[in-house]
Amino acid sequence: MEITVVGAGIIGLTTALTLEQEGHSVRIVAAATGAQTTSAIAGAIWFPYRVGPPAKVALWAALTRAWLQRLSGDPEAGIDLLTGYEITQESEYDHPPPWWAANIEVSRAAAPVSMDLVAWKFSAPRVEPARFLPWLAARVRAPVERRAVFDLAAEPGDFVINCTGLGSRELAPDDLIYPLLGQIVITDPGTVDRSITVTDHRNPEAIFYMIPRRDELVLGGSTLPWPPGALPEIDRDVTRRILDQARSLGLAVGNVRTERVGLRPYRLEVRLEREGRIIHNYGHGGAGFTLARGCAEEVARLVTRM
Ligand SMILES: Cc1cc2nc3c(=O)[nH]c(=O)nc-3n(C[C@H](O)[C@H](O)[C@H](O)COP(=O)(O)OP(=O)(O)OC[C@H]3O[C@@H](n4cnc5c(N)ncnc54)[C@H](O)[C@@H]3O)c2cc1C
Repeated sequence: MEITVVGAGIIGLTTALTLEQEGHSVRIVAAATGAQTTSAIAGAIWFPYRVGPPAKVALWAALTRAWLQRLSGDPEAGIDLLTGYEITQESEYDHPPPWWAANIEVSRAAAPVSMDLVAWKFSAPRVEPARFLPWLAARVRAPVERRAVFDLAAEPGDFVINCTGLGSRELAPDDLIYPLLGQIVITDPGTVDRSITVTDHRNPEAIFYMIPRRDELVLGGSTLPWPPGALPEIDRDVTRRILDQARSLGLAVGNVRTERVGLRPYRLEVRLEREGRIIHNYGHGGAGFTLARGCAEEVARLVTRM
């Protein structure tokens, strides 16, 4: 099958690679690549966040986790397996595992922070986008044609796969997708245990996470609906609040190197469906790296069901 993939973030590249592995002939068109994409800003830890619908997400996430675990065998891919801790309210102790863990193992454990807190413990692949996006691009045979697409139906091929994230607001067009601003702070590694990642979403207005990379820490975060079309802006108060939260949990993070902001392509539900010869695959919210392979495999199934 001849297939055009539009978009070269984590979703477009993973979809292109998966389709090539299934024997299809792929071309990729994208307005931006690498560091210019939202995907380059991500943490990027395996963790389903601000994404739906739950049952499909749990399945796509489990498939993607297994894929990332396999790829972590190649150090050049920039993927390492960390132990994840999601801090929870004590009252959740007797509750069933979280919705996103429907297809993976989680257990209860003391949170590895200074306070007396409990957490869900699980194995979490962590991706370094600056290593993994070029690694992926190098494995996709199709080169990326750099240009903006204004009409999906005008692109050639038996199928056109729309992996344009927020670009789908105009291109699909779809006003159910909108930007959710996220801010992160990059610090020196400090003396924290870099084999663990900690998430604290007990207060949805002040989410916190710590994601160690090989040479730095990513501290987050924030989630703020953002006007479509407006450029994201760094908020120094958010940086201060994130650093305060790290300190209050007893995490000995290093000096601040930089702050970054990006716009998550949020939709109540990922749009993964066929519309004639167009297949949409966008709206992965705060979980593009968590769902990429599971969604790409579903695209591959839709293509063969022609
Ligand atoms: C601060 C922050 C932290 C995050 N942390 C995590 C995390 O820890 N784990 C995780 O799983 N996810 C995380 N995310 C979410 C993740 O970054 C996104 O879900 C993911 O990047 C979406 O990928 P995408 O390929 O759909 O979009 P993008 O990376 O935005 O790529 C879209 C592609 O489409 C192209 N495009 C758009 N419109 C057009 C057009 N009209 N014509 C041609 N090309 C077009 C773009 O140029 C680009 O190539 C985070 C996001 C942010 C902002």
